[in-house]
Amino acid sequence: MRKTHANSKAASGAAGRAKLKAGPGLVVRVAKSAGFCFGVKRAIRIARDLAASGAEVRMLGDIVHNEQVIRGLEAAGIRKLRRLGRGRGRTLLIRAHGAPDRQIRAARRRGYRIVDATCPMVREIHRLVRRMDRSGRRVIVMGDRKHDEVVGIVGRCRRGALVLDLKEPLPEKKLRRIRRAAIVVQSTQNEAEALAAVEAIRALAPDLKFFNTICRPTRMKQQEVRILPLETDVVLVIGSRTSANTRRLYEIARSLNRRTHWIQSAAGLRRAWFRNARTVGVTAGASTPEEIIRGVVEAAARLPGP
Ligand code: SF4
Repeated sequence: MRKTHANSKAASGAAGRAKLKAGPGLVVRVAKSAGFCFGVKRAIRIARDLAASGAEVRMLGDIVHNEQVIRGLEAAGIRKLRRLGRGRGRTLLIRAHGAPDRQIRAARRRGYRIVDATCPMVREIHRLVRRMDRSGRRVIVMGDRKHDEVVGIVGRCRRGALVLDLKEPLPEKKLRRIRRAAIVVQSTQNEAEALAAVEAIRALAPDLKFFNTICRPTRMKQQEVRILPLETDVVLVIGSRTSANTRRLYEIARSLNRRTHWIQSAAGLRRAWFRNARTVGVTAGASTPEEIIRGVVEAAARLPGP
């Protein structure tokens, strides 16, 4: 049960989800895994502690993919950089998705003190690819080519890595030429798609080590979002447009229930979506703050229902 929704009448829903009913309106079910994962919570805690310590803190890009969280950190005094300037003893915070080695080395050379908020699960991927790269295997990363996490993973391989975007056809010729391969997966990829792609790659590059590096919070979110759309009339997926894991949740939910909508906050809700609906399922990306989820749930629960 999610404590923050205590003002609604609530009962445990199927598959461990919270079920909220507000008067004569819609029944709203919230996925238990909706919202911050431990990696994001940890990165935000590190950032806030640093800001409170009085250090001059800079972050390169967004440390997590949510505008409200970033605004909060900026208000606490952390400044966002577009590119590395002179460090002069300032602290550079490495985001939850990690960063390539060369970027961290460049920051040190410029005088930054580094505080690493990389999620431990991403760090584990870094360790894995470094080991595989050193052992002579060609590292293959399944993920979004330009995503910070993928850039950071590739940047840990001295000999570079082949990035496979699961939305694109497999580069068969390139794969056939690889003698020994090791595959890792961006932590927030669609697990079903990744597993299917591994089987297809195995047929092309048989000497293959596969590490399923999709993180546990992502798996839990994806498991829930494969059930929620089947049990509810309308599905709301909450998260920033820049959040890759939110996109994944949206894509899975939408493939199962056409009445799925991706919103960033309660302001995005449209009454017309709920015509003849009795139940609403809610989930949220790993960097969506609890207040935003609560705002959506409360607004949806106030809608009149069928
Ligand atoms: S989604 Fe997974 S890998 Fe990414 S920050 Fe959260 S726990 Fe870490």
